[in-house]
Amino acid sequence: MDFATRCVHTTPRIPDSLNPVVNPLYLTSSFSHTYVGQEDGYSYTRMQNPTREAVEDTIRDLEEGTDCIAFASGMAAIACVMELFKPGDRIVSGHDLYGGSIRLFNHVTAKNGVLVSVVDTSDLDAVREALADGASALYVETPTNPLMVVSDIRALADLAHDAGALLIVDNTFLTPYFQRPLTLGADIVVHSGTKYLAGHNDVICGLVVCGDQGLSDRLRFIYKTLGSGLDPFDSWLLARGIKTLPLRMRRHESNAKELALWLLACPFVEEVLYPGLETHPGHELCKRQGDGFGGMLSFYVKSEKLARSVLTKLHLIMFAESLGGAESLITYPITQTHADVPPEELAQKGIDGRLLRLSVGLEEPSDIIYDLESAFEAARLEVGE
Ligand SMILES: *Cc1c(COP(=O)(O)O)cnc(C)c1O
Repeated sequence: MDFATRCVHTTPRIPDSLNPVVNPLYLTSSFSHTYVGQEDGYSYTRMQNPTREAVEDTIRDLEEGTDCIAFASGMAAIACVMELFKPGDRIVSGHDLYGGSIRLFNHVTAKNGVLVSVVDTSDLDAVREALADGASALYVETPTNPLMVVSDIRALADLAHDAGALLIVDNTFLTPYFQRPLTLGADIVVHSGTKYLAGHNDVICGLVVCGDQGLSDRLRFIYKTLGSGLDPFDSWLLARGIKTLPLRMRRHESNAKELALWLLACPFVEEVLYPGLETHPGHELCKRQGDGFGGMLSFYVKSEKLARSVLTKLHLIMFAESLGGAESLITYPITQTHADVPPEELAQKGIDGRLLRLSVGLEEPSDIIYDLESAFEAARLEVGE
């Protein structure tokens, strides 16, 4: 079945004589039993719930994995994966990541005795070198947040496996509609389902998808023990969001392309980071390993003063954290997503006060452009540039 059809048709887990078209919402903590010592499939929602299980099955199929687990947030999903590792293990992570992941690695994973070292994963020689000291996992985002750096998933999988490490890919930005890392050799895919998968800026959720049953058995044990599973109502909302994933992703992408081209020509903008631009260093690679470039872009404006001012002059585009929803959102990484990243680390990466990140929404692109154009004009008058 085609991807789009799989998004729409999700099989209800429990036979229901009323034949509902949409999988029901099972708002129950517990399931009673008919026989002693024999459960009828479900017992307690922390372990599993039919509404959650249905959306897990859908996303497992979209990512072409063997199992998918739904979590209360993207961070809960990533934190669960980190529980696979023990003191003394080493993780090599990409140098440009979602700020919350960096905070988790630096302050929680490290505290548990797992060593985390950082490398630019678009530089395969640097990755090979970083893995040479031995590693349990290589953790990457591609494209990265917020600098949109693209890495070669298949090559990274080979390097990781040669070193005896797992390859973990955060696939939040492209979603399985545009990129399926497990088919390129990754072992684990993680998601902030809050973003494009749920897609409506109204749910916090996360996912882990595995390509190996042994791994997912270990992860399921950790997740039921920690109790970080997604609740039934949010599972139901996530399932509803998935139905329109292909439609939304195509529109996010065509809007982002239009915005990127407009920003390239905008006199207040110094540089546009969007893999869909032919001039982007990761353009060919992104095209080769996936089916699209997504709806996220970042750009440097002429000065920090201008960046700060423009954020307060927008009306349609909301100045807010998060991405991947119907509404266009603009983020200031330096004070929002990356506020907890040490300043020297930010400077090294090139995340500074001139960088803005835009999640291009589903509005008519000319309205988004008009909003930016007006805000730049107002900001120019304010800061006198
Ligand atoms: C938002 C985000 C996360 C964290 O997910 P939450 O659902 O906010 O916990 C992880 N990775 C990426 C790339 C993100 O954008």
